[in-house]
Amino acid sequence: MGLIEIIRGDITTLAVDAIVNAANSGLLGGGGVDGAIHEAAGPELFEECLKIAKSRKDNPGGPCPAGDAVITGAGQLPCKKVIHAVGPVWHGGTRGEPDLLASCYRKSLILAEEAGLSSIAFPNISTGVFGYPKEQAAEIAVNTIKRTLPETPGIARVIFVCFDGENYRLYLDFLGPVK
Ligand code: ADP
Repeated sequence: MGLIEIIRGDITTLAVDAIVNAANSGLLGGGGVDGAIHEAAGPELFEECLKIAKSRKDNPGGPCPAGDAVITGAGQLPCKKVIHAVGPVWHGGTRGEPDLLASCYRKSLILAEEAGLSSIAFPNISTGVFGYPKEQAAEIAVNTIKRTLPETPGIARVIFVCFDGENYRLYLDFLGPVK
């Protein structure tokens, strides 16, 4: 089964097979990690996202509804692929947020496996602008990855990339430094 690591840093700098973007349902960029990824990747990534968004424009819930994920190239980034996963906006936890957040992690891992990739880095999806409580989000992220890894034998390495100190400490609490 794949190894799980935790690092503190900027996901755009990682030369892994895939980085996951905490995208929004329009797929056309935004603030936070989404903005950082598009800025570092350049216009090629935006063009690819635009193409997918146009082809899915009649989807209920937007081109990529919460809980769903799509895969693109990586433009100028050092990774090979970007997986755009759309986390739920936190509304107090009564609108299916835990299942939608778990679905982001699960679908991203499966997309990476299907693309023949072996290393994947995740940001702390939904814990920025989308307002998901960080402790609950960390628990879901870790548990979902542990549950899904046995189904994705090609994935050798999963990295949780924590940008802020609070998330970093929470992930260390749930997982220990390296497992
Ligand atoms: P969301 O809308 O899903 O909440 P945000 O981008 O606002 O997405 O925040 C998600 C997480 O990404 C936050 O924990 C934020 O600290 C983190 N983040 C922001 N920039 C980066 C980056 N360059 N690399 C990794 N994580 C980042």
